[in-house]
Amino acid sequence: MAKVTPARRQYLEIKAQFPDCLLFFRMGDFYEMFDEDAIIASRELDIALTSRKHSTKSEPVPMAGVPHHAVENYVARLIERGYHVAVCDQLSEPDGRGIVDRDVTRVITPGTVIEPELLMENQANYLLCIIPDGDPETGRWQRAGLAYADISTGEFAATQLQGENVGVLVLEELARLTPKEVIMPQSWANRGVSLPEGIHLTPIDDWISEYRTADEGLRHHFHVSTLDGYGLGEQPYAICAAGAVLHYLRATQMNSLAQLTTIRSYSTASFMVLDQFTRRNLEITQTIRSGKTRGSVLGVLDRTITSMGARLLRMWMTQPLLEIRRLNARLDAVEALTQDEVLRQELTQTLANVSDIERLINRLMIGKAGPRDLISLRDSLATIPRIIDNLQGISALEALLERLDPCEEIYQLISDALTDEPPATINNIGIIRPGYSEELDHILSSTRDARDWIGNLEPHERRRTGIPTIKVGYNKVHGYYIEVTKAHVDKVPEDYIRRQTLVNAERYITPELKEYETLVLNAEEEILQTERRLFDEVCKQIAAEGGRLLKTARAIAHLDVFLALATVAVNEGYIRPTLTEDDTLTISGGRHPVVEKLLESGTRYVANDTHFDDASRIHIITGPNMSGKSTYIRQVAIITLMAQIGSFVPADEATIGLVDRIFARIGAQDEIHAGQSTFMVEMVETARLLSGSSNRSLVILDEIGRGTSTYDGLAIARAVIEYIHNNPRLNNRTLFATHYHELTELPNILPRCRNYSVSVAEQGENIVFLHKVVPGGADQSYGVHVAQLAGMPRPVVERARELLAQLESDGSDFSLPASNGDKHPKKDAPQQLSMFDARPNPAIEALRQLEVDHLSPLEALTKLYELKRLV
Ligand code: ADP
Repeated sequence: MAKVTPARRQYLEIKAQFPDCLLFFRMGDFYEMFDEDAIIASRELDIALTSRKHSTKSEPVPMAGVPHHAVENYVARLIERGYHVAVCDQLSEPDGRGIVDRDVTRVITPGTVIEPELLMENQANYLLCIIPDGDPETGRWQRAGLAYADISTGEFAATQLQGENVGVLVLEELARLTPKEVIMPQSWANRGVSLPEGIHLTPIDDWISEYRTADEGLRHHFHVSTLDGYGLGEQPYAICAAGAVLHYLRATQMNSLAQLTTIRSYSTASFMVLDQFTRRNLEITQTIRSGKTRGSVLGVLDRTITSMGARLLRMWMTQPLLEIRRLNARLDAVEALTQDEVLRQELTQTLANVSDIERLINRLMIGKAGPRDLISLRDSLATIPRIIDNLQGISALEALLERLDPCEEIYQLISDALTDEPPATINNIGIIRPGYSEELDHILSSTRDARDWIGNLEPHERRRTGIPTIKVGYNKVHGYYIEVTKAHVDKVPEDYIRRQTLVNAERYITPELKEYETLVLNAEEEILQTERRLFDEVCKQIAAEGGRLLKTARAIAHLDVFLALATVAVNEGYIRPTLTEDDTLTISGGRHPVVEKLLESGTRYVANDTHFDDASRIHIITGPNMSGKSTYIRQVAIITLMAQIGSFVPADEATIGLVDRIFARIGAQDEIHAGQSTFMVEMVETARLLSGSSNRSLVILDEIGRGTSTYDGLAIARAVIEYIHNNPRLNNRTLFATHYHELTELPNILPRCRNYSVSVAEQGENIVFLHKVVPGGADQSYGVHVAQLAGMPRPVVERARELLAQLESDGSDFSLPASNGDKHPKKDAPQQLSMFDARPNPAIEALRQLEVDHLSPLEALTKLYELKRLV
């Protein structure tokens, strides 16, 4: 083997410790990558691939590099694509002899990012660990430990999930938290676990999550003898997961993880469950079409001013509460702020001066804060006395007020120690305020003469030589120089020594300048080192108060959210909902918060009422396409969700019996589930609903059954409704929007089922959508009108009208029972589907026999094919 140079050997040794990472190897002003890493980086980052010989005899190896000042941008792109990056820095200054010390200072993976440039401001960045308890060989598990942390904010939480469908529970947590990276023991990760899109899976060694290792690691980190105090005592798998998170973070951060000051154990049973389909269908935090927040419910509610508030509100939206006491405390706070406009204005202005101190404090605690971070902290702290003043005497905000700590001595420390506009990094001098440190002041004064001499050199030399364009400058290679434009070189004095020739100028030094240069450079180095040390000390002092600061940061986040909710409530005319423990639900004058804002000007949103009680559980909503069925049923779900995060709601009045979970299901839509069996997806979603809901759940079903032929669709829709109605475990508050008019017969058979329809008015041949939900089934279908509105060619519309008339008049054997949406609903016509026929239909009989609850999705599909053959 060819002999390797010391630098190459150093590289290979370090690389061997991080085989799964792309190694960014600092060499001077660049981070270089070599070998396979260089090939990947050049492909992914679109940077030039070169090669380098390590010695004259050695083979050249592939190399690619990025400038050090732009490194974060490149790292971000690699992380986004799921790569891990190890950053290897120079730990000593090059001294011309031997090689520089180097080591990896940080490993960056999607879930362990702290750099502000790599983080989304308004979103947490979670690393999540799943530890299944079961047999990786069969893939069966009975329990799972789950833990997650965001090292940019210090949040750290763990839970243990169990039950028959623990897999589903885990998926629900993934949907709620949307972590950036999931870690799992190798033995499980290798089983081809399929995670939702956008989540990066990193296998870890199995031993890392063993109970003893995890327990010890956590106790050691928190300096406690038992984890019982965190509520983790009875949850061994939660401990395994949390221990693995800690281990992984430590391995990537290479530091003490001081920001993880505590861990919270939680139970998913304390949140309303929102599975991924419901989140998606209700467009809670992003729209289906664009994936953006704008146009979602969060988009309407998010009037927060700070990033901390924005993250907290987003978290609230994903985990509505089930506790009336906590919700009322939130509603009280929002209400108090709705009542005082001047206060809202003042707080709005004040909060605009608060930075993201939550993340900033975390950077500080791990020694990654820069001078300007401290200035931001100082300015943020300066606002707190004013906020405290503003909130005095408001009883609903008392608890919050108590958590606000102005941290005066920290404010004072930063003010005393730092200059008002320090440089961005600690590589420049001018961070520490004169007067703060005697030592620094002494260095400054004893070197002032030399620095002044150089400072005055330019005017001095201009006078002495009579050359008006003389400039004094500095560069790293030549040090200080005197620059003279070509036109004046004949006038330079004797003592000038030429150093460098440029196109238009010559650069000189003088022996005297060299002397002062040495003095100044030495002084600057000394000042730089001293300032760095002082800055470090200041950071450490502040970091020691990290807990207090974080508490304050979080109190501000809460205030910001309350203020946002109050502002929206006032601007949009929302009211405070009343929450109860029973399972009724009454809304009068309810609106859809997003749709009402999107209406064209001049169009008024038509408010609608909703009432569920023991006698009225399932509402079937009929009406033509575009009449507002979907909007209406979603509005009920969204109002409930808003109430359970502690927000006011768009209605005149709302009394909401707490809902333990919302199911929102939409019939197959080709564009959404492209590439899959759309009907299969629809059925799997519905099956989950039937097995997973309780009688405290709220169910909204939009056109379930649409994804198949009319007969199948009707059969399934009816079977689902009957099942919900007749099963005491379910008997949910259910809203079922459908175009199957046949279903309006159901209230005749099922006593707790009610018909509602969205009314329309006819004006000649046209119809006007009134968007008003009224009792009773729709008895007209307006498909042809809608076709006309949609701009169908006139001949098509006219022909359709002809056919319809024919159908209405003779009810002949017009063979049309296809799934064309709005069929003509004439009740007694022979073409009416025979769902409600007295004659026993074999398909119906088979359906009755069917135990939907016990079918796997595949069996369901097979059964459907069988059923289809029967009709
Ligand atoms: P459907 O589900 O019956 O096909 P949608 O719920 O999609 O109808 O509503 C169609 C459109 O009608 C919506 O995009 C909205 O613009 C408008 N709309 C729905 N409900 C209302 C309402 N209550 N007031 C005013 N406009 C409404």
